Amino acid sequence: MGVKQRTKSLSSKNSKLSNTYYQLEVLSQSETDQLSIPSFKQRINEVGYPKGVTPVGMEVFQINIGKLCNQTCAHCHVDAGPDKKIENMDRSTLQLCLELIIKYNFDKVDITGGAPEMNPHFRWFVEQCSLNGKEIIVRCNLTIIMANKKYEDLPEFFAKNKVHVISSLPYFTKSRTDSQRGDGVFEDSIKALKKLNDIGYGIEGSDLILDLVYNPSGAFLPATQEELEPEFKRQLLRRYNIQFNSLFVITNLPVSRFLDYLIETGNYEAYMQELSMAFNPTTIEGLMCRNTISISWDGYIFDCDFNQMLDLKSDIKNPHISEFDENQLLSRTIKLGQHCYGCTAGAGSSCGGEIV
Ligand code: SF4
Ligand code: SF4
Repeated sequence: MGVKQRTKSLSSKNSKLSNTYYQLEVLSQSETDQLSIPSFKQRINEVGYPKGVTPVGMEVFQINIGKLCNQTCAHCHVDAGPDKKIENMDRSTLQLCLELIIKYNFDKVDITGGAPEMNPHFRWFVEQCSLNGKEIIVRCNLTIIMANKKYEDLPEFFAKNKVHVISSLPYFTKSRTDSQRGDGVFEDSIKALKKLNDIGYGIEGSDLILDLVYNPSGAFLPATQEELEPEFKRQLLRRYNIQFNSLFVITNLPVSRFLDYLIETGNYEAYMQELSMAFNPTTIEGLMCRNTISISWDGYIFDCDFNQMLDLKSDIKNPHISEFDENQLLSRTIKLGQHCYGCTAGAGSSCGGEIV
């Protein structure tokens, strides 16, 4: 049946929140208004990081190669969608990324979007990374595999290049998945998962890795990975004969469309309080911004994908890949804000799931 959107991007709705300054203003007000949520930077200081959070290395080169997507999920922190035709990385920027990945010996290349497969240079870039022996992660939304004939062979393409596939599946039922990601998403996701399983992805003993990502459907913190992973495995196997490797549980950060959702549903205050109350200092050592850099479609450098969506560029002199400076990047201080409570709540949250 294909995917039908239930929502629109913030920019196509002309929402005030499509302006990142406005998002930052809303978030910073949580420190001063009646909410009185302690400043995240202050909290970090109090638990033993007076100089803030600093990098421990540069292992992961994460690239958001464009905001174009065949879906318009309700909680998307990228504000991606079918209308985002301009914000796509061009070949010369990808070429420069490739040169940096090789020169600075990044172990992992994490390719995200939008639906990264919709970028016309996607396959070329994956092949180049593979030829250079890099571990490649593709954040595939699954339905893209079913969206159009030209994407049907993606499972084989991924397998040929030993791509580690990480895909969102908010739940093992149609109603909860479709309400978050759009009508028809669950059905197409199941079909895509079957295709991936058929060529060995997610099957025990195979070296083709397929991980799934769970994020809560509303304004609450997720249950633990330990609880959810066996339940997902059992249910997907029993209902659809589908297998996968690991389930990554992530917390929704109050950024972009999820911030819009929180405000629209009157849950913003309660959610920020919940995140701040669940602050867990032991997550700080493993924050993803400490070993990752995040590159936007137009080549700017950020500490993580969330800072990228808030347009908080890395705190170095020229935060653009054309002026890449390893020493400056390694000695920078990471830019933190109230949204960072989302990464430190409970067991913590990162692109690879829980932190502790
Ligand atoms: S969450 Fe992923 S699949 Fe959904 S609109 Fe955003 S980028 Fe696309
Ligand atoms: S949002 Fe999370 S990953 Fe990004 S800078 Fe804040 S703590 Fe680090």
